[in-house]
Amino acid sequence: MDDLNFFKSYENCQLCPRQCGVDRTRKNSRGFCGESNRLRVGFIGPHFGEEPPISGTHGSGTVFLAGCSLKCSFCQNHQISLEGTGETLSKGEFVTKLEDLIFHQQVHNINFVTPDHFFPHLFEAIGTLKEMGLNTPMLFNTSGYQSLEMLKYAEGFADIYLPDFKYADENLAESLSRCRNYPTVALAALTEMIRQKGFLDVFETGEEVSKKGVLVRHLILPGNVGNSILALTTLFLEFGKKLPISLMSQYSPVGHQKETALNRRLTHEEFTAVYDHVRDLGFENLFVQFLPEPSGDDSENTRFLPDFQKSSPFDS
Ligand code: SF4
Repeated sequence: MDDLNFFKSYENCQLCPRQCGVDRTRKNSRGFCGESNRLRVGFIGPHFGEEPPISGTHGSGTVFLAGCSLKCSFCQNHQISLEGTGETLSKGEFVTKLEDLIFHQQVHNINFVTPDHFFPHLFEAIGTLKEMGLNTPMLFNTSGYQSLEMLKYAEGFADIYLPDFKYADENLAESLSRCRNYPTVALAALTEMIRQKGFLDVFETGEEVSKKGVLVRHLILPGNVGNSILALTTLFLEFGKKLPISLMSQYSPVGHQKETALNRRLTHEEFTAVYDHVRDLGFENLFVQFLPEPSGDDSENTRFLPDFQKSSPFDS
């Protein structure tokens, strides 16, 4: 597949490891991600809640794509990933919005959130920006569940990868995201991302804002400390102590979850068990999102949840 044929991949879609093989150009023909070949976006705008070298002072230029190839039951962005919120954009409208982020908002990067199922549109838009001489870093903010073949095509378009490593436990991956092979697929994807871009540059350069590299995120899930400990141990054994890690504690319950523990927030005991483990392993390049002290305030449950029905989803 050469660059010109990226859009052909919608006709027999293998853009992610689900490999549905559906023709997304046909009316009402959808794969697991739920999206056709028309670009849909839930939100575009600066976001200041990413890790410091990603948000910087002007924000990260986030592009939240509608739909998702993973669809975790607890998704914190459920309105756009599971419930269909989003608007269709033409190529011209999309590029204009990206230009606005770069020229007017002066964001530090363009941050494509769950990009896989719209890779052809994104490659096209990035190509257009590069032809205009723009060199703003392009960040692919992914689930970790990526196709190796598509990542090889992404190499020429991405500067920064921000992948999750959600599960080391296959049973948990199956029950929450319907992909038992997540641990194997994600480890191969991370290996390819690191081969392409190396570790996040700021730990070497000392700069405040990142331009290149890989930072791996792990969200601790309530009631699943064992999965987190195994995931972090696996990352350490695979990639060593210099792998940049972002340990996240912001889980907020969404809807009703079959697994009882997922209907509450993380406890301090759970967070501390995982945090102590990541320190004991000896990871050197670490971002940690600490839990706030208990306040008895119910709004704490939703503090980190964006609301994509609002014009500014991250107001809270
Ligand atoms: S991108 Fe969507 S349609 Fe294509 S393989 Fe993945 S889930 Fe299936």
